[in-house]
Amino acid sequence: MDCKQIQEQMHKLPKEELGFFPTPLHKLENIVKETGVELYIKRDDFSGRNLFGGNKIRKLEYVLGEAKRRGCDTVFTYGATQSNHAMQTVTAARKLGMTPILYLVSVVDPDENDVRSNLLLDTILGAEIHIVPILPGETEDDAEERSFQMGKEHAAKLEKEGHKCVDVPMGGANEIGSSAFIDGFAEMYLQMEALGKKPDYVFHGTGTGGTLAGLSAGKVLSGADTKIIAVQVSKKDEIYKEKVCKLANAALNYAGFSGVTVTKDAFTLEPGFYEPGYELPNQASNDAIRKLARMEGILTDPVYSGKAFAGCLDYILSGKIPAGSTVVFWHTGGATALFAESAIIGDLNKL
Ligand SMILES: *Cc1c(COP(=O)(O)O)cnc(C)c1O
Repeated sequence: MDCKQIQEQMHKLPKEELGFFPTPLHKLENIVKETGVELYIKRDDFSGRNLFGGNKIRKLEYVLGEAKRRGCDTVFTYGATQSNHAMQTVTAARKLGMTPILYLVSVVDPDENDVRSNLLLDTILGAEIHIVPILPGETEDDAEERSFQMGKEHAAKLEKEGHKCVDVPMGGANEIGSSAFIDGFAEMYLQMEALGKKPDYVFHGTGTGGTLAGLSAGKVLSGADTKIIAVQVSKKDEIYKEKVCKLANAALNYAGFSGVTVTKDAFTLEPGFYEPGYELPNQASNDAIRKLARMEGILTDPVYSGKAFAGCLDYILSGKIPAGSTVVFWHTGGATALFAESAIIGDLNKL
C-alpha cells in the first residue's frame, strides 16, 4: 500500500485537530557537512498549540477524537510529574472543552515552592493534579500501578455522577494513539520522497512504545525498507518487544488495515544510551544536546530526545551507518525538561 493511500484511510478515522500537521522536516546542513551522512530532522516538537508540542499531540488527535465522538467530557491520564504526555494531554483537553485530571508519580520529587517545567504548565492550564509519591518499599512500577487504580476509582465515581470519562494510558500508547504514527510514518515518507530521498534509517526515543508501534506498522504496511532504530529511555526487556508488536498490530486493526503483521524484526531496540535510568541524565546525552544546539541551534531534552540523538549521532560517527546513507532523526519534543529540576538536567546548567 503506498503512503498516500495509507494517509487517505487514516484520515477517515475519528480525529480532532490539535496541532499543525504535517510537521516540518528539514536537513541538518552543518552536521551533514561534518559527517557525510544525509541527516534530516522531523519536527514533531512543532506539533502543538504552544512552543511545547511533541509526539503525544499526534496521538491525542486520534485518542481524543475517538473519545469526543463517544461524548466524553473528562480526560484522565498518567505519567511522571514532569510528563510531556500529561502536559500535552492537558492542552488538548482544554482545546476540546474536556476536564483534564492527572495522576502523576513523583519519580523526581517536585519542590512545592519552585514548581517547574511541565508541572508548572499543568498548573497554569488548571489541570486537576494528584501527585502519587513512590512509597517506601514500592518500585516506580508499583506506584504507577497504584496511580492507574486511583484514576480508575476516581473515574468510576465521576461516571456515577453522570460524567463520561476517557482513560488515556501513559504516553497515549493504546491502539488508537499508536495508529497516529502509521499516519506519521506515511507523512514523513512522503516528505522525504518529495525531496527525492528515501529514509534508510529513522531514529527516535522510545518510552511507552506507542510511537515505535505506529512507525513499525507504517513501515511494514508501506513495504518501506527503512530501518527503525528505537533508542531506549529506560530499561526494557524481551516482553517489551512483544508488547510493541501487539500494539502495532492492534493499531493496524483499529485503523482498518489488514493483510500485514508486525513482528520483532520490524525495528531495532538500542539500549546503549539511557543509563543510569529514566529521567536521569548521562554524559553522552548531555553532550549530544549541546552538539545539536551548537551546530544547528536546535534544542532537545535530557530525558528523551537528547538520549535518542546521542544514539543517532553514535551510529553515524562510529560508522554503523555507512556514509551516503539517509537518516531521519524524529524530534519528539520534550525540551521543557531543560527547565526541570537539576536532578533531571544534570550538567546542562553549568556555565
Ligand atoms: C513520550 C515521549 C517519547 C516516547 O514516546 P513513546 O510513544 O512513549 O514511546 C519520546 N520523546 C518525548 C519527548 C516524549 O515525550
